[in-house]
Amino acid sequence: MKILVSNDDGYRAEGITRLRAALAPLGEVTVVAPDRNRSGAGNSLTLDVPLRVFEAEPGLHYVAGTPTDCVHLAISGAFAFEFDMVASGINDGANLGDDVLYSGTVAAAIEGRFLGLPTVAVSLCTSPGSARHFDAAARVAHTLVSAVLQRSLDPALILNVNVPDRPYEELAGYASTRLGFRHRSDAVVAARDPRGNPVYWIGPAGEGADAGAGTDFHAVANGFVSVTPLSIDLTRHVVLPTLARWLEAL
Ligand code: MN
Repeated sequence: MKILVSNDDGYRAEGITRLRAALAPLGEVTVVAPDRNRSGAGNSLTLDVPLRVFEAEPGLHYVAGTPTDCVHLAISGAFAFEFDMVASGINDGANLGDDVLYSGTVAAAIEGRFLGLPTVAVSLCTSPGSARHFDAAARVAHTLVSAVLQRSLDPALILNVNVPDRPYEELAGYASTRLGFRHRSDAVVAARDPRGNPVYWIGPAGEGADAGAGTDFHAVANGFVSVTPLSIDLTRHVVLPTLARWLEAL
């Protein structure tokens, strides 16, 4: 079994080091990850410059590109062999609700969908000053990836996994969830560069707005490992009949 591991925090991040170690007993693990933190890169490809794959050590590769670049290169010809699945993470921070649209961690898993096997994105729900139980998230990743490899689920499945930041023994269990939705993010933080020109920092994401029972937010808040099946189809199917009638009136 050949497992591709990537992330968006960079190839030297603690989370990917833990994930690589946790999955090593399950197969041959190859890491291909960005050379630096590319959190928030989403599903982006680098098309204006060529990309190089550097080997930091056997099995550990980095690319001056996005998480999507890394997985795309890895499964589309940079290696002489085929991968069986992709695992991404362990992200330093939650990827809940609409985070998945921006997340490079989730994007890396999504890029692996062409493999025809479920792919898994794992995030640890850290917050500033929290304990950062990467060891717990690594055990969760091992358990889930092992299960995915042994018991075939929907082959097109992308699992978005969020682990509460607490010791493994204190996790409440696994919960299947749907994505919630966040409140609008905080305003951008304005500053001035040394020449007096305005610059802006993107502010933090909003709190959970749609965060009731059944959502990923709710599961994590109650100590459960949240497991959300994602699909790529962004079509708002319920609006299709209304839209058809609306278009007829044009
Ligand atoms: Mn990240």
